[in-house]
Amino acid sequence: RVSNPARGKRVLLAEPRGYCAGVDRAVETVEKALERHGAPVYVRKEIVHNRHVVETLTDRGAVFVEETDEVPEGALLVFSAHGVSPAVHVSAAERNLRTIDATCPLVTKVHVEAKRFARDDYDILLIGHKGHEEVEGTAGEAPDHIQLVDGPESVDAVTVRDPSKVIWLSQTTLSVDETMETVKRLREKFPTLQDPPSDDICYATQNRQVAVKAMAPECDLVIVVGSQNSSNSVRLVEVALGAGARASYLVDYAREIDLTWLEGVQTVGLTSGASVPEVLVRGVIDLLAEHGFGDVQSVTTANETLVFSLPRELRDKRQ
Ligand code: SF4
Repeated sequence: RVSNPARGKRVLLAEPRGYCAGVDRAVETVEKALERHGAPVYVRKEIVHNRHVVETLTDRGAVFVEETDEVPEGALLVFSAHGVSPAVHVSAAERNLRTIDATCPLVTKVHVEAKRFARDDYDILLIGHKGHEEVEGTAGEAPDHIQLVDGPESVDAVTVRDPSKVIWLSQTTLSVDETMETVKRLREKFPTLQDPPSDDICYATQNRQVAVKAMAPECDLVIVVGSQNSSNSVRLVEVALGAGARASYLVDYAREIDLTWLEGVQTVGLTSGASVPEVLVRGVIDLLAEHGFGDVQSVTTANETLVFSLPRELRDKRQ
C-alpha cells in the first residue's frame, strides 16, 4: 500500500454495524423485566457478549449468574440471546423459577433444525466453537445425534454412523468463508452431506462481514469495537485481516486504543460487533477526530430493517 499524503486522513465507517435484531430484543427484554418486576432480575450468562451492556444492566439491578442453581427459588430468570439446552429449562422448572427466554429467534431456528434432523436419526455435524454458549445450547437439543466440528482442522477426526445420512448445521456467528472451507472438507469426506434448510449463519453476522470486506482493502487499520468473548466481533477482526487490512484490533472502549496504532496511518476502518451499543462507536469516532481523523465516510453494503417482537411474557407492554 502506497500512502498518498494528498488524500488526507479519513475514517471509513462500516454500515451495517453494531446491534442486530436479536441483541436489541435481548437487551430490551432485561430492561423491560426490570421495569415491570423490579430488581433483582437474574440473567443466566451474559445477556449478550458485551462488557458495557452487562455492566450497565448490572447497575440497574440485573444479576448475572452462570447457572440456575445460583438463583433463589421462585425468582425471575432471563435466558440469554445465545439460547439454552432443554436441560436448563428443566433445572429452572425444578427450582420453580419464573423464566423469560431472550434466545434470539435465529438461534431457536437452529435448535428446531437440530431437533428435526435428530428425530429423523441423522448424524448432525454442528460447526461452531467449542465451549461457546450457543453451541452448548444447540447440542443439548440432541446430544446423541450432534457432534461439534470446530473448524476445518477438526474434520479429520469426525466419524459418523451412516455416511449417507449426515447434515451440517452451524453456530450463527461464524466466519462465512471459514465455515464454507469446513463444509468443503466435510463434503470431501462425506459426499452426500446435506446442507441446512436455510442459512444458519445469521443475516447480521453475514452483513457485518460483507461491509468489513468491502472497506478493508482500503484500510491501513481496522478497529472493531466489541468484546473478546463476542464470537461475531472476533470474526470481524479476522475478516478484516483476510481482506487486506494491514492491521486490525478489537477494543471494548475508545480508551483501549493504543495511539501508536495510528502512526503512518491514513485510512482507519471502523465497525462494531452485533452486541455493541452505538455509543461505544461514537467514543472511537471522537477519539479519532481528536487525532486528525475527522473525515468520516460511510461504506454501506446493506440496509437492515429486521425487528423481533419481545418474548411472549413481555410483549403486551412494548411501547
Ligand atoms: Fe440473533 Fe444473529 Fe444477533 Fe446472534 S448475531 S442475536 S443470531 S441476529
